[in-house]
Amino acid sequence: MVARVTLEIALRKEFDYAIPPELAGQVEVGTRVKVPFGHRQIMGCVTALPEHSTHTNLRQLTGVVGKQSLVTPKVLQLARWIADYYCCAPETALKSVLPEVVRREQEGWRERLIVRLLPLTGEPPKLTKRQQEILNLLEERRELPLRELLELAETTAETIRRLEDKNLVVISSQVSERDPYAKELISKTDPLPLSAEQAKALVQITAAMDERAACSVLRDSAADASRSTQHETRSTFLLHGVTGSGKTEVYLQAIAHALSQGKGAVVLVPEIALTPQTVERFKARFSHGPLQTQVAVLHSHLSSGERHDEWHKIRQGRARIVIGARSAIFAPVEPLGLIIVDEEHEHSYKQEEAPRYHARDVAVVRGQMEDAVVVLGSATPSMESFYNVARGKYALLELKLRADDKKMPIVRVVDMRQTARKDKGTPIFSEELKEAITKRLERREQTILFLNRRGYSSSLQCPQCGFVAECPNCSVALTYHRRAQKICCHICGHEAPAPAVCPEPKCRSAAIRYSGLGTERVEETLTKLFPHARVQRMDSDLMKRKEDYRRVLGDFKAGKTDILVGTQMIAKGLHFENVTLVGVIHADLSLHIPDFRAGERTFQLLTQVAGRAGRGDVEGEVFVQSFTPFHPAIQYARRHDFTGFYEQEIEFREQLKYPPAARIALLTFKGRNEEKVKFTAGHVTHELEALASGKAVPASEGASVREMELLPDDAPAHTLTPSHPHTSPLRDLTLAGPAPAPLLRAETYYRYQLMLRTNQMSRLSRLLTKLLGTLALPDEVSLTVDVDPVSLM
Ligand code: ADP
Ligand code: ZN
Ligand code: ZN
Repeated sequence: MVARVTLEIALRKEFDYAIPPELAGQVEVGTRVKVPFGHRQIMGCVTALPEHSTHTNLRQLTGVVGKQSLVTPKVLQLARWIADYYCCAPETALKSVLPEVVRREQEGWRERLIVRLLPLTGEPPKLTKRQQEILNLLEERRELPLRELLELAETTAETIRRLEDKNLVVISSQVSERDPYAKELISKTDPLPLSAEQAKALVQITAAMDERAACSVLRDSAADASRSTQHETRSTFLLHGVTGSGKTEVYLQAIAHALSQGKGAVVLVPEIALTPQTVERFKARFSHGPLQTQVAVLHSHLSSGERHDEWHKIRQGRARIVIGARSAIFAPVEPLGLIIVDEEHEHSYKQEEAPRYHARDVAVVRGQMEDAVVVLGSATPSMESFYNVARGKYALLELKLRADDKKMPIVRVVDMRQTARKDKGTPIFSEELKEAITKRLERREQTILFLNRRGYSSSLQCPQCGFVAECPNCSVALTYHRRAQKICCHICGHEAPAPAVCPEPKCRSAAIRYSGLGTERVEETLTKLFPHARVQRMDSDLMKRKEDYRRVLGDFKAGKTDILVGTQMIAKGLHFENVTLVGVIHADLSLHIPDFRAGERTFQLLTQVAGRAGRGDVEGEVFVQSFTPFHPAIQYARRHDFTGFYEQEIEFREQLKYPPAARIALLTFKGRNEEKVKFTAGHVTHELEALASGKAVPASEGASVREMELLPDDAPAHTLTPSHPHTSPLRDLTLAGPAPAPLLRAETYYRYQLMLRTNQMSRLSRLLTKLLGTLALPDEVSLTVDVDPVSLM
């Protein structure tokens, strides 16, 4: 047998090694190994164990790292799909499927010394008063960590050792797991009786799960794993439920069904929504008593030790349900019955560095690979997912009513142009919103105010004509700096004197405003307007640690805060009964970004924020302040009309061939020398055009010259992507650009983009991988490939 190994240095190749007799039996697919490579020793991962190699004179593996293979064959298969589809080196994809702390094995289990009482045999020995006190303490608790006992009894380890000598206690070392939620007191919840809509959704999900379970039994008994499983029902569901419709309860009961089938579940939530509140709901249902470890949590706020313990709990099968952000999609849950992606429209599911995968899409692929059912949930589904419903790829489940018969909040759009005409100062609060806040303060109800921008000052906007001052290089609004009387770009540093009148030649209005619409300014104005109100701000400037976040939310929940002002951070997931008013200070902000998804983003944000109101007994009210009150994104959000929004938006996407009507890959060229960047972009565009038309015969098939220099002669290489000498032309490929990126210059780097559109992304991915393999870029220019980008900046 031969070990095929992918190395932790990105070479886009795999290498064959012989397995020495002393390591036989320890090497399986997924095992981490140490191998000789040239004159070095390098770490790698076994990806296959073929019987023979086409190469002779194989070198031997030097060692095996770790006891249990960390990457399961199934997760490995997923990593390979990611490398292929997102055009990255397999090593890069492999790195992202394991948390850093697990991969590097820096952290181990934490061991602690535990003192335990031994049963008394024979005569009770004579004890000092101090010794008796210690025994009394232990009697109460049976056992205690040594350190805790020393503190409690105010004694020394020496004293305890003497007790051990007398055979009264035993001191032993024990693994003690770090539980990030140890301090939370979570009481068990029972499944709620479902509403008719919820029940209907759940039945369809569980039926699909049952069908898959039945098929895999059949398949196993037929001992024919290769037979493709054709199912009656689709395995991916889009659960479209208005905010507060009880999607979470459906998830919980579907998970219970997975457990009853002996399978596990992965629940993805956006990092931002991974609040203690969310985690608590899952732990309360599944993690209590002897099942303490059943739910594992993976996210970036854990300490590396906590992450180590949570991950290994999953790998050992002691945790069957995983809740986490993006990368939790790689959790080694086996067998896997269900994957849930909550708030599936969230852009934070996309990783913005290589591998640039989208966790929602990876979830769908993993579901197919492992015959698991996938549920994508949202109140505002992405255009992509709804399009997949329209084309019959996903099944739609709808929850149109709020779970507890609460009404949807009334949404009022306030035309801020009028407020701007009436008011002299910067319009931050319309009369309507001010009145509404006053009412809430009188009635002791709570208010949430949302503004998607932090800081004090922000853009320069003309209330008469809508003009916004943007940076000439960066396509971002310029920020007003009051003291310096300048407008500046926070990305490239561009500066200009602050104009006194609107620069728009036809307008020249003197009413131009440094509309200081940062959350900080909103907070300040609020305290002036309502001196007695208790105001709290929540944005990433202020919330540096997870404790801050918990404290602010805790205070709000306890009614210690009247008004919560915040950014995106407060837009979703939060659930407070006493909030009856939500104000959106400036709804147009997200409409100004240079991206075809600006309208979609705005619609989603408004709908999500509005959903925070009226979760309790009193009906909720929402005020949306806007300078473009008739924009479709705002009007459809006002009417809670997702389908209406989708229909007019898809028309625009289809006309312009934007996703989901086509797939996009974005190539970004970066470098300090603009001419070189531009030239390289042009050159690559030509190469790609030739390759796509099927005409090109790349100069050197396979590894490029530079790569060849890296390869020692004695390491037989397998090119990972099979070369297709007769690639048929990719006829539907269209190229836009190369052109300067919307953010042309960022931190002294010029950026040019080439946008590729096709309906056959897998084929384009192969083409791009091939191109990347033959390309020799100049040293000063870098190229990134982003397949299915969510941001065009
Ligand atoms: P969503 O996730 O769709 O925004 P939630 O799951 O947060 O909605 O549910 C909103 C509220 O309705 C929660 O307080 C939840 O406990 C409650 N709820 C959900 N399902 C039911 C039900 N079947 N009966 C009564 N209350 C329910
Ligand atoms: Zn103007
Ligand atoms: Zn700039």
